[in-house]
Amino acid sequence: MAEFDVDLFVIGGGSGGVRAARIAAGYGARVMVAEEYRMGGTCVIRGCVPKKLFVIGSHIQHEIEDAAGFGWLIPQVDFDWPTLVANKDKEIARLEGIYTTNVEKSGARIVKTRAVFEDAHTLRLLTGETVKAKYVLIATGGAPNHGPAIPGIEHVISSNEVFHLKELPRRIVIQGGGYIALEFACIFAGFGTDVTVIYRGDNILRGFDEDVRAHVRAEMERQGITILTGCTVNKVDKPGKEFISHLSNGSSIASDLVMFAIGRHPNVANLGLENASVAINPNNGGIAVDGWSQTSVPNIYAIGDVTHRINLTPVAIRETTPTLRPRCFPNRKSAPSD
Ligand SMILES: Cc1cc2nc3c(=O)[nH]c(=O)nc-3n(C[C@H](O)[C@H](O)[C@H](O)COP(=O)(O)OP(=O)(O)OC[C@H]3O[C@@H](n4cnc5c(N)ncnc54)[C@H](O)[C@@H]3O)c2cc1C
Repeated sequence: MAEFDVDLFVIGGGSGGVRAARIAAGYGARVMVAEEYRMGGTCVIRGCVPKKLFVIGSHIQHEIEDAAGFGWLIPQVDFDWPTLVANKDKEIARLEGIYTTNVEKSGARIVKTRAVFEDAHTLRLLTGETVKAKYVLIATGGAPNHGPAIPGIEHVISSNEVFHLKELPRRIVIQGGGYIALEFACIFAGFGTDVTVIYRGDNILRGFDEDVRAHVRAEMERQGITILTGCTVNKVDKPGKEFISHLSNGSSIASDLVMFAIGRHPNVANLGLENASVAINPNNGGIAVDGWSQTSVPNIYAIGDVTHRINLTPVAIRETTPTLRPRCFPNRKSAPSD
């Protein structure tokens, strides 16, 4: 009987996990990938892709405004939020299908369930089944972080829920100064929502070039977005239908929706990492890895947002390359097609 059921077990069918599974299967490895929610992960299901569809949708208003200057006579137009959301959902379902098919075509097997470590080589699936793996890749991504549990935090939505709103809010308060918060601020403003951004720092887009920060802020304000810096939302009330955000500067703002996009945390909880002795990076709370994405346990690797370094899709995707080739498949000369 073979010592291992699979050569590589990938936990998470997102940007990093999907590519790793496909490429490893292309090398001839026996691969299993576990996904507890939907194939494609954050980027495809509730990140980059649906967001870009919303961005495109929200830009159309500006095009319509400009059109008259170019001779286009456009009659009175109307916008229907539920249609946008329904069509976005259709497109995401189509992409999810493509991701699933591509993984299956590569020869990897998908198990639609949660997987956790029982030990460094054994994964327990939620179905009760256990799988013995020679190598394990942790690609479990991250999740929105709401920050401290302020009073009324239960009224606040994150980027997960924002993609499924039944109706377009007339007024929204968005706390956060990073790119996700600001993109949603511009999306909603583009659809005509009255947007207020709250950020605790002195200017938005911390860590970006100073000229870019100043320019983006000025452009957002020019488009009618209110940006309040140097304060935080300390409490959210819901006296009736609307929400009241109470700010640390003593003021309060009424809105139809409150969204926080103040950061994300790596998905390391309840993964059974302690059963496998996988170390956490004390500096960022993600899984500690070396330059080859190898964890503290030699047969276990981690890539993408779960390592909490640069949380972007192309980074997660490209981190699979050094991980898979020289370490796990040293005898294979040519790489399978990408
Ligand atoms: C709103 C938003 C917009 C974004 N926009 C961009 C953008 O424009 N450009 C860009 O480059 N990046 C963007 N990102 C970031 C990008 O989505 C992530 O960096 C990328 O998805 C990380 O890929 P990953 O493989 O590490 O994890 P993910 O894609 O998050 O995949 C992890 C998967 O693991 C699954 N999982 C977790 N635990 C388990 C378990 N125990 N068992 C089984 N399955 C499990 C999850 O369900 C998930 O599907 C955005 C993110 C958000 C939230």
